[in-house]
Amino acid sequence: MLPFIYDFMQDELKEIISPTFRVKQIWNWIYHKYIDDFEEMGNIPKDLKQQLKEKFALKPLEIVASQKSIDGSIKYLFRLHDGHTVEAVLLQMKDEEYHEDGALKHQKRYTVCISSQVGCKVGCAFCLTAKGGFVRNLSAGEIVAQLLMIKKVNEIAANRRVNIVYMGMGEPLDNLDNVVKAIKIFSDKDGMAISPNRQTLSTSGLSSKIEKLGRLDLGINLAISLHAVDDELREKLMPINKAYNIASIMDAVRNFPVNARKRVMFEYLVIKDVNDDVASAKKLLSLLNGIKAKVNLIYFNPYGGTEFQRPTPESMQNFQEYLVKRGQLCTIRESKGLDISAACGQLREQKDIS
Ligand code: SAH
Ligand code: SF4
Repeated sequence: MLPFIYDFMQDELKEIISPTFRVKQIWNWIYHKYIDDFEEMGNIPKDLKQQLKEKFALKPLEIVASQKSIDGSIKYLFRLHDGHTVEAVLLQMKDEEYHEDGALKHQKRYTVCISSQVGCKVGCAFCLTAKGGFVRNLSAGEIVAQLLMIKKVNEIAANRRVNIVYMGMGEPLDNLDNVVKAIKIFSDKDGMAISPNRQTLSTSGLSSKIEKLGRLDLGINLAISLHAVDDELREKLMPINKAYNIASIMDAVRNFPVNARKRVMFEYLVIKDVNDDVASAKKLLSLLNGIKAKVNLIYFNPYGGTEFQRPTPESMQNFQEYLVKRGQLCTIRESKGLDISAACGQLREQKDIS
């Protein structure tokens, strides 16, 4: 099978395609005009088009289902070339806003949540993605193409501001090389030009890989899926904690290079009667001591067959209040769209496709 052209960084393509200035033109067709047929690349000579067709494949993904939530967020189920499926979500963070004189203050803001693997090895007890086990890593191109496809079908102009969160299916640090490559392809100024400081990688806490990612110093934002404040509970919820305990994660976070204007995000999935007590909030606060952190409380999103329950709004508020009163930035993720995104794996489940 031919490799997908999205798997390559510009420099790599320049070693394969000549003359090299054609690469920028091809990138313009692919990443700015969303063209996925070499024939439609108007300014590319015929013989080069032929060579491209012989060397590279396009169209790595096909949309098999989509689901719109009331706030306008849209979740997509993509089929890969080998028949497996992954999810990605387009979140509309903010509608466009206008000044009193009618001038545009800012345009609509988008965030896209993308997957890094088919399934996941980490096996968290609360996660639907984990239920299907691990199938395979996504290639860099398959990661890149999720956003590209979403921009294309929603006619989001190339120059519109889009943020990326690696919070879909899979553990991105378990597929570090391909994810790093995708981060670089996304940020290339001649392509989608999404700077790493608009990309956030969420991890279940593979401490050694957090250290490795930090040493690469890409400028990417980090989110830690903490979910529990003591090792005993965290091991039950997230078996990975046996290999990388909470202390090791905190050490890795302390060494991680964080942009001066940014914070490390700590995601805390709140599950009724499991981790929703104020004593946990207290422990969390002491764990975060000295770290420039932002806590994001997530409502557990139940699905058929799970033993876990959604927490009450009161317990969420109490938890948040405890932290905020003591100066810790903390938000509650409550929008419907974010709700579906936090439960990646659910559309795939409904369609009963793996
Ligand atoms: N593997 C990475 C990134 C993907 S999971 C990680 O775990 O961080 C993205 C987020 O969705 C994680 O914080 C995860 O805990 C959360 N999540 C998983 N199942 C969920 C559910 N049923 N309801 C709400 N959030 C869930
Ligand atoms: Fe994997 Fe993240 Fe799900 Fe855990 S929560 S099983 S790490 S995708």
